[in-house]
Amino acid sequence: MEALDGNAIAGPLFEYFGTEMTVARGSCAHCGATAQIAELAVYLRAPGAVVRCRVCGKVVMVLVRIRNALRVDFSYFRLADTRD
Ligand SMILES: [Zn+2]
Repeated sequence: MEALDGNAIAGPLFEYFGTEMTVARGSCAHCGATAQIAELAVYLRAPGAVVRCRVCGKVVMVLVRIRNALRVDFSYFRLADTRD
């Protein structure tokens, strides 16, 4: 399956966080690589999406929609606390 980029999940992330998240930076909890969410590898897979680190290939984020509830697991992506 071909990877999309983080812009593919801009909609659900906006819905979940209430703000534009694709430009947010964070680091992979597996290898420490930093990236903007827009740069991550996204695999859309019903009923959600799996997001992988481009450096180590491991899963950093999972989005799942169950009925109408959106669940976002950010366990392995540490959002950097940077605001402009
Ligand atoms: Zn990584």
